[in-house]
Amino acid sequence: SSRALHPEDIVVKTAHSQIDHQSLTLMAGPCSVESKEHVFLMAEAAKKAGATVLRGGAFKPRTSPYSFQGLGEEGLKYLREAADAFDLDVVTEVMDESHVDLVGQYTDIFQIGARNMQNFSLLKAVGQTQIPVMLKRGMSATIDDILNAAEYIAAGGNQQIILVERGIRTFDNKYTRNTLDVGAVPVLRALSPYPVMVDPSHAAGYESLVGPEALAGVAAGAAGLIIEIHDHPDQAFSDGPQALLPKQLEELANQSRAIHSII
Ligand code: PEP
Ligand code: MN
Repeated sequence: SSRALHPEDIVVKTAHSQIDHQSLTLMAGPCSVESKEHVFLMAEAAKKAGATVLRGGAFKPRTSPYSFQGLGEEGLKYLREAADAFDLDVVTEVMDESHVDLVGQYTDIFQIGARNMQNFSLLKAVGQTQIPVMLKRGMSATIDDILNAAEYIAAGGNQQIILVERGIRTFDNKYTRNTLDVGAVPVLRALSPYPVMVDPSHAAGYESLVGPEALAGVAAGAAGLIIEIHDHPDQAFSDGPQALLPKQLEELANQSRAIHSII
């Protein structure tokens, strides 16, 4: 999949989105699917801000086994229904090889989470499908590590891959959750044909930092942003501190499009 073999950019296409560097794709939604009613509200907010993809976790890779683990298949159903109601695509995480068929029945894009970036059997399994894959950079993964992970997917025949920079672990995570590696965006674009997106939510960890990191990502040449939203962040089942309110998302989406239009 290297640039030498694929000089032309790969465009990832879904029913409602075309993910490439010519346009700016917005994916938004809650960290976790919490209820049918809530995910519908979030889908409406995502659509209003110009998103074409609804995100939401039904199988959650939580650091602690005692944290909310997701609604499972019930969550996938709610997510699909909400996306369909607002003409949006779905992106949701598949955590385990044994769930690829199940999640594939509901989603338009598989998310491979940072913690699973080198789960090679999972990468091979999604590589056997024809469903686009959004591959998030592991929190301690090098550029070559994520490129090799993408290669595991592509080797199975599936080249509909999106790479995501979501912040890496560094020595100081007191004031930021992770460190957004802005430089990874142009580097990954130069080395691979895949669209490169930025997830400022998991990089920042705090709502006040999401906007600046999102705009930096767009300025660095990201093909899109994936952003967590919630109407009541203090009540969110997961990742509340980094959730934007719907009106904050709208404002950030407008600013992001303005920057994208001048680069
Ligand atoms: C998520 O998208 O909710 C998530 C868990 O992301 P990451 O794998 O990047 O931590
Ligand atoms: Mn999250």
